[in-house]
Amino acid sequence: MHLSLPPRFYRYSCFLSSQRFPLLAMIGVAAPLLLGVGCQRNSSAQSAAQSLTSPAPAAPTTAAPTTAASGFDADRTFADLKKQVAFGPRVPLTKGHTACRDWILGELRKSAGETAKRQDFTVGLGGGRRLPMSNLVAQFNPGAKKQVLLCAHWDTRPTADMEIDADKKKRPIPGANDGASGVAVLLEMARQFAAKPPPVGVQIVLFDGEDYGPGEDRMYLGAKHYAKRRALPKPDYAILLDMIGDKDLGIWREQNSEANAADINDKIWNAAAALGVTAFQPGVKFTISDDHLPLQAAGWKAIDLIDFDYGPWHTLDDTPAQCSPASLKAVGDVLAKVVYDEK
Ligand SMILES: [Zn+2]
Repeated sequence: MHLSLPPRFYRYSCFLSSQRFPLLAMIGVAAPLLLGVGCQRNSSAQSAAQSLTSPAPAAPTTAAPTTAASGFDADRTFADLKKQVAFGPRVPLTKGHTACRDWILGELRKSAGETAKRQDFTVGLGGGRRLPMSNLVAQFNPGAKKQVLLCAHWDTRPTADMEIDADKKKRPIPGANDGASGVAVLLEMARQFAAKPPPVGVQIVLFDGEDYGPGEDRMYLGAKHYAKRRALPKPDYAILLDMIGDKDLGIWREQNSEANAADINDKIWNAAAALGVTAFQPGVKFTISDDHLPLQAAGWKAIDLIDFDYGPWHTLDDTPAQCSPASLKAVGDVLAKVVYDEK
């Protein structure tokens, strides 16, 4: 995903320049995330950037233990996060990509049976080369009138763009938070839906090619494909999870989501408040391009739950050590409440 903010934010950037990151600069990747990545030890710069956000945020809080009595197994979910990372980078045309795809589909099948399927597609790279990709789809309560789509991306960034060291930049990221966290939560939710059928239809779609890049013309590839050729009925709304495993979890309403479907954000933040999950922060913070935008462009309601205050974003340090079972459970509990409260 990419962060978009007005150009005036660039003056707070500590190492982004249009020369070093022409594409990122062009599309508006901006200071607060960079402060989190490149200047994470610069607290005064960080507070300057945070003062630019609206409304003025409190310091992100650690994911509080929730009192929700859901069946969400935090340790199993965290094990699923680590399992994905252990496959290696999930980059198209790599062994890790293929192996992880097959493992995820196998896990979905255990919960969703034969509704769990691959949606294969290819993306042209020019010169006749094509990248094979797969979205992974599963469905619960397919006959229900109301349908909710829960989604995340399962691929990982081929290059650690946010590293400073030139050699490290060329290497693929582990993608513990950026990739594996959302998938892990949705695999666990699938188990819950199998054990206790939801009152509405639930579609789970795990997108490939979100982070291929390097530019946005080669990102959100699975979501773009799915928005055009959806495998399941049009959902009433979609909730996207991305980078929700940070051990210092703080999720703010995202601006593109708020503009498109504030009522869905309300459902989520109300559920978090009811459960006492304090990781969901009041107010809007970042404006982010992510897999929800192709869905919105198709005319669907879609919101993105994302914690963009994540220092290791697109670095080699995006490892399980940066994530926590409690954060995964906080998000899973809130999502479960939203789904099971639907009528
Ligand atoms: Zn990413």
